[in-house]
Amino acid sequence: MTNNLENIKTRFAPSPTGPMHIGGVRTVLFNYLYSHKAGGSFILRIEDTDTERSKKEWEHMLIKSLKWLGFDWSEGPEIVKGQESLFDSADYTVRYKGENGPYRQSERKDVYRNYLQQMLDNGHAYHCFCTKEEVEAQKSYLMSIGESPVYKGSCRNLTKEQVEENLKAGKRSVIRFRTPENQKIVFDDMIKGRIEFDSSIMGDFVIAKDLENALFNFTCAIDDHEMGITHVIRGEDHVSNTPKQILLLNSFGFKKPTYGHMPLILGQGKKKLSKRDAETSLDEYRKEGYLPEAIINFVAFLGWNPGTDKELYSMDELLNDFSIEKIQKSGAIFNADKLDWLNGLYIRKKQIGELTTLCIPYLIESGILKKETDISYLSVETDEIVTLSQIERAIRLYQERLKKLSEITDFIDFVFKKELDYEKSLLVWKSMTDEELIASLELSQGLVSSLDDDFEEESLQNMFFKEAEAMPNKGNLLWPFRVALTGKQSSAGPFEVARLLGKEKCLRRLESAIKKLKYS
Ligand code: GLU
Repeated sequence: MTNNLENIKTRFAPSPTGPMHIGGVRTVLFNYLYSHKAGGSFILRIEDTDTERSKKEWEHMLIKSLKWLGFDWSEGPEIVKGQESLFDSADYTVRYKGENGPYRQSERKDVYRNYLQQMLDNGHAYHCFCTKEEVEAQKSYLMSIGESPVYKGSCRNLTKEQVEENLKAGKRSVIRFRTPENQKIVFDDMIKGRIEFDSSIMGDFVIAKDLENALFNFTCAIDDHEMGITHVIRGEDHVSNTPKQILLLNSFGFKKPTYGHMPLILGQGKKKLSKRDAETSLDEYRKEGYLPEAIINFVAFLGWNPGTDKELYSMDELLNDFSIEKIQKSGAIFNADKLDWLNGLYIRKKQIGELTTLCIPYLIESGILKKETDISYLSVETDEIVTLSQIERAIRLYQERLKKLSEITDFIDFVFKKELDYEKSLLVWKSMTDEELIASLELSQGLVSSLDDDFEEESLQNMFFKEAEAMPNKGNLLWPFRVALTGKQSSAGPFEVARLLGKEKCLRRLESAIKKLKYS
């Protein structure tokens, strides 16, 4: 290896023009893993040159998303105010850490102006006064004769005086790069291998609107140099930018970073990623109750594979096993079911206390609970105090089934309700008549009444099983009992649920079910 591993420096350079998506998470992750694995550093740079589309709110959200996922960076903006309320604070200030700031491109105009001026002075760039219409007409002509529709540089050879005159006359202009003719630009992509471009297909591309407004390829290349970036890992959609950035760096005699372009993310069957998956922001995943550990694990496999059967990876394990050589060249497949599966696994691994803390906001937001103190809540419907340990017990019953935290509300809402709302037909097991159902529920009532207040699940079960043996089918007793307690088609087992609700509530619910059968 020619690189001194200690000096590896990568960056995540998002444009704050929208929320972060899964593709962005992969870019951060692979850059982070690549540098950290080598003992190098990873920085955050905000590429907000597109002033119309860039918004502070998006930047805020991006930084918070990165923190939520567990990333840290050695240089870049850091939130000093507004981090505590994780996602909804409008009051937000950053401070830069690191010696190469500022880390927002909108605050680096001096740097770009300097370099642009140098290029104009030494002829690597020039003012172009062609109007949009002229450029378009030229492109159409080139296409009509079978050539690439690139700017061929009618303003390339204006004299200094002509330029001055045009500028003085207030003619609108842009700054173009004087692309060297007939040059091969070759780079060894860490993932895709050797890539070659011919400068003739690039034409003289625009690098700035004017001295104050440099554009993406220019600012990106300059900042990669200024910030000492050694490796750039980014999506395949950036491949065509790379030769431009290399030419710009070459024109200053700057060393180019090593580039690696990750495969596109495709949907199942190698089709274009579905709109839903492509457009679901990381924040939506968070709100639905996906855990950062699951997302990191899932995203790591979008294009990378350890070459073993191991599927569960923590960040630390990824730091051990990740290698850029194992990133595939072809498209990475996005499998939403796999994300759900992983999320379920990470939910099951959680300590119940932590899982409860994570689930409570969903119960509050859906109007089931209200916060009373740090350890007690109120059931919105019944106004009863609900302790943290009661909530914990309810969640524990469903920990195995949860795929997303948000599902908890539909699973356990019945616990905190005053009246259950269900059709009486739900009580029917197979073809039981109303009379049979009433008899079954009355039997359950009798069994529950005979219990102590703090009955054991097991004694309840033994009693029910004994009675059920005398019936044509166990379901005749257990199904109506469970439905009466939960009002749901599916739930945790009847005895667990009964234990959770307690004797009194069980009896009340059995009574309501009987009434439902008798009077509705
Ligand atoms: N700012 C660019 C983007 O968000 C990234 C540029 C890069 O990674 O080189 O697409």
